[in-house]
Amino acid sequence: MGSGGLVVLDERDCMVDIARFFLKFTQAESCGKCTFCRIGTKRMLEILERLCAGEGRRDDLEKLATLADYVSRGSLCGLGQTAPNPVLTTLRYFREEYQAHLEGRCPAGRCPALIRYRVNTNCIGCTLCAQACPVGAIAYRPYEKHEVDERLCTRCDMCRQACQDDAVEVVSP
Ligand code: SF4
Ligand code: SF4
Ligand code: SF4
Repeated sequence: MGSGGLVVLDERDCMVDIARFFLKFTQAESCGKCTFCRIGTKRMLEILERLCAGEGRRDDLEKLATLADYVSRGSLCGLGQTAPNPVLTTLRYFREEYQAHLEGRCPAGRCPALIRYRVNTNCIGCTLCAQACPVGAIAYRPYEKHEVDERLCTRCDMCRQACQDDAVEVVSP
């Protein structure tokens, strides 16, 4: 495949976060010679970061598309010319996910600022989640239904991975 690559994603991957991830990489790799790549990718990254943080603005999607077009056409080399591709593709095929982020939701449950962890009624009180939580956001209560303290939770996902009873859910309002 030469220098190409293949990435497999499913419905648990957030397309806005994926676009942010790829743009962050190309933005860091920009040599800075031309303005569109150096500054255009930075402005695009800022928009994606605020969307993932739930601070998107109404005209952000239009701005993203316009900037992507400028950066593709105005950059001197392949890096800048292709940097906006993940944004353009996700905007074209997953626009509803961008729209959800504008409304403060992350449908894939990946953007920490837009999700909450909750223990459901499957909980048998085994305490595995409390033992796994690195910040003490789940009190240790053997044989009782456990609860997540949202004020302490850092959305690290350790409790969900530790639970063997599908009792820890990720919800996005
Ligand atoms: S497009 Fe190429 S030459 Fe221009 S700033 Fe980006 S990496 Fe440098
Ligand atoms: S690991 Fe799951 S079943 Fe065990 S206490 Fe935590 S939420 Fe309940
Ligand atoms: S997501 Fe992380 S910080 Fe939050 S309750 Fe679970 S283990 Fe603790």
